[in-house]
Amino acid sequence: MTAEQRTAIVTGAARGIGAALAARLAEEGLNVAAVDLTAQACEETVGSITDAGGTARAYGADVADEGSVAQVVEAVRSELGAPAVLINNAGVLRDSLLFKMSTDDWDTVMDVHLRGHFLMSRAVQGHMRDAGWGRIVNISSTSALGNRGQANYSAAKAGIQGLTKTLAIELGKYGTTVNAIAPGLIETDMTKATAERMKVPYEQFVEKAAEQIPVARTGKPEDIAAAAAFFIREEAGFVSGQVLYVAGGPRA
Ligand code: NAD
Repeated sequence: MTAEQRTAIVTGAARGIGAALAARLAEEGLNVAAVDLTAQACEETVGSITDAGGTARAYGADVADEGSVAQVVEAVRSELGAPAVLINNAGVLRDSLLFKMSTDDWDTVMDVHLRGHFLMSRAVQGHMRDAGWGRIVNISSTSALGNRGQANYSAAKAGIQGLTKTLAIELGKYGTTVNAIAPGLIETDMTKATAERMKVPYEQFVEKAAEQIPVARTGKPEDIAAAAAFFIREEAGFVSGQVLYVAGGPRA
């Protein structure tokens, strides 16, 4: 099967990094299933892909819900084709210091990130095994190395790195590679919300962050999409179980 016939699922594709990932994969010739909490939320992502001549379809699913995941993977298989590429990108933040962190905030972040990556990967692996070819790209974070106010998020993002390495070991013999990207600060709604929570104007937040970044700028969603485009290539078939820090400098 060539890239033109392959189907990719991108979770959290309504906006930010997920929208850029979906657009890039469509440019690479894949049929893209843009998944977010509602199909409606993905309409803009899908619209711009189809306007540019690509193939994409919007799907609604909660990646933390087992039934919802099973349903969406089956819908993608029957409407777009068996998924050969999965980008686990959906995510949420519930930041607070440990002493104030509610159990709900811990569970929500663990569920969307860690359980979500697990459920989606488990649901697609059979299709990749049957095809003898697959690519899974997980989205971790520099927060995996520890970040104040993110006990839940950093634990989930570190967990994703362990999951990535184990799935690489288990799925390698079926022609499936599994890698992770650990972004640094990327300009999206997620980081806008962080600036708001810290009561810092976004421009100032970005400027301050850029001062600490070796390449002297913050990241754009397209920076992450470019890294994912490498991992899914045919020629990247010998690269598996890796964590690529895309952070404008060495953060690992
Ligand atoms: P964002 O908040 O702009 O987008 C996240 C998307 O995920 C949203 O569209 C949201 O609706 C969707 N989503 C949330 N819960 C979901 C669920 N249960 N099921 C399906 N979809 C769900 O965030 P972003 O900045 O684009 O981040 C994308 C990914 O990159 C996340 O995993 C995030 O943790 C990671 N990341 C972001 C940054 C950054 O600086 N922005 C840095 C490191 C890692």
